[in-house]
Amino acid sequence: MSEYKDSILVLRTYKLGESDRILSCLSKEHGKVRVVAKGARKPKGKFGGRIEPFTELNASLWRGRGELDTLRQVDVISLNSSLHEDLDKMMKAATVVELVDKVSFDGQELSELYTLATRALRLLAQKDSANFLAVFALRLLVVEGLAPQLEGCRVCGDRKLTSIEARNGYGLCVVHGVSSPVSTGVIEMMRAVLAGKTASVLNLEMMDESVEFEAVVIEYLESVLSLRLASMHSNDSSLMF
Ligand SMILES: [Zn+2]
Repeated sequence: MSEYKDSILVLRTYKLGESDRILSCLSKEHGKVRVVAKGARKPKGKFGGRIEPFTELNASLWRGRGELDTLRQVDVISLNSSLHEDLDKMMKAATVVELVDKVSFDGQELSELYTLATRALRLLAQKDSANFLAVFALRLLVVEGLAPQLEGCRVCGDRKLTSIEARNGYGLCVVHGVSSPVSTGVIEMMRAVLAGKTASVLNLEMMDESVEFEAVVIEYLESVLSLRLASMHSNDSSLMF
């Protein structure tokens, strides 16, 4: 048994007994961790009000023999409380933590994912964007090594792409494309994000293309990661936490 310190992002919380919580967290240096926070549901306990999904903490943890570590002490890095106050932001933040939860496994080194997710949530807490989820999902695909290949058509190299292969992310031109068409504006936004120009795409106002951008990226992501995001396909936000 030993004590260790790390930064953690709370993904999910579960009730345990009368007053405790179990937290599923992504940590910066120890990958995914499951932690017991004793007394976390007591309003006047030492963790009072700080153990919520989307919260980023500097934590002191105790590694026991079982699967669960124990949370000893926390300092808040970022509460991101505005994500609980705005329904639209909350839905997006829920998708971020759901995605992070689904792509992360115990024992993996996940510092790049940690940095991406915590930066994204802090940014969303400050300012919403119509393109937020699509940008986050694309950067997550980059971290996972599954970014779509949009330099040119897979068959002929033509720069003018009109569709994206759902299974492997290759762009295709109008002659060689078979799947549903993607507009030029969306291809350009995707290229910008893949080139690291996330701020310019996040700062774009809501456009017709924003809806298509999100739909195209999420469809590709779900296909390539073989998953379905409950938070993207449910109209009932009360189901989520
Ligand atoms: Zn072609």
